[in-house]
Amino acid sequence: MPDLMLLALLLAAIAIGWWLGRREQGRSEPRTHHANRLSRDYFVGLNYLLNEQPDQAIETFVQALEVNSDTIDTHIALGNLFRLRGEADRAVKIHQNLLARPALTALQSGQVQIELSRDFLHLGLLDRAERLLESLSRESIDEEQLNAAKRLLVDLYEREREWQKALDVALPQLVRQDDDTRRAAAHWLCELAEGDMRSASPALARKRLRHALNIDARCVRANWLLAELERDTANYKSQIRLLQRLAEQDRDFIPIVLEPLRDAYLKLEDEKGLERCLHRWLESAPHISTVIMLAQRIEHREGIDAAAAFVSEQLAVNPSLRGVDYLMNLYLVDAQPDQRQHFSLLKQHTGKLLEARPRFRCHRCGFSGGQLHWQCPRCRSWGTTKPITGLEGE
Ligand SMILES: [Zn+2]
Repeated sequence: MPDLMLLALLLAAIAIGWWLGRREQGRSEPRTHHANRLSRDYFVGLNYLLNEQPDQAIETFVQALEVNSDTIDTHIALGNLFRLRGEADRAVKIHQNLLARPALTALQSGQVQIELSRDFLHLGLLDRAERLLESLSRESIDEEQLNAAKRLLVDLYEREREWQKALDVALPQLVRQDDDTRRAAAHWLCELAEGDMRSASPALARKRLRHALNIDARCVRANWLLAELERDTANYKSQIRLLQRLAEQDRDFIPIVLEPLRDAYLKLEDEKGLERCLHRWLESAPHISTVIMLAQRIEHREGIDAAAAFVSEQLAVNPSLRGVDYLMNLYLVDAQPDQRQHFSLLKQHTGKLLEARPRFRCHRCGFSGGQLHWQCPRCRSWGTTKPITGLEGE
């Protein structure tokens, strides 16, 4: 049985035991038939629990436990337990049953409605969750509940890709309070800006992207999109400036910036400027993609031997599988027929190893793949996926 469930069941058992004890203390008359049944149910439930039969234990506890002001928290916890077990429909029944009780205070009612919204979200009943959460985020009297309702609403709008609605709920309070929401809000603005770019509204896109950077100065995607806007209007100097700013925001993203940076410098016919920039980046972040791009410039200017010498020198300091693979490409050009066979064989091996390697990884959950996702497909965190560095990566 999972630890969490065992713990929750034990808590439920303790709560029932405590409640039964209190109930008995308050009585001056002899035990009633009802109290006897409750005690019996309690021990039957406990017995199920000790025998690791959680389903039967839960059923017995739910039946044994009357809904009153002392036991509402336990009922809420039991409903949550069902949801955690993947039985959100049963959780809905328990939480709806609670909501119908007149004994609930406004605070308790708010708590039950939040849990019910979580049940609906779990079941994919987004419209029902949305209605409940919208009314809670307008009317809740308790600040903690208000924030919980807003967070769930933001989560729901994100799933529906309703970026503006998510921003309306999260700004300004949640964004100020929470780093993850701040990072996410900047990405929602980037999503909206991408929509503007598709519908040919660059001015609106720029405005949103500047807003994104105001919210989260570390948002590399905002500078990435601003750079694309400059490229689209052939402002290559501004594009280069923005890509350089992006590299300063986060050195790990240099590998994805290299190609547009090279293209922009070549449009300006400024190869020296490109090489200066690459050398500068290499000093602070020894990515193999930067080494390869510089080697291509050296090959173009001084020939294969100079390029191969440069790559070997770099690999001695920062070994890299992709670097070795590229070096073999260079050696293959001038290789004798017998050497060519050996290099080709080796290249097949490195090629296979590289093919099997993911290029990007989420720092939050470890999800990896060949594509850069601004929102991790597994843990749904924004801006946590980056190029993989090290021996087998960058
Ligand atoms: Zn993740």
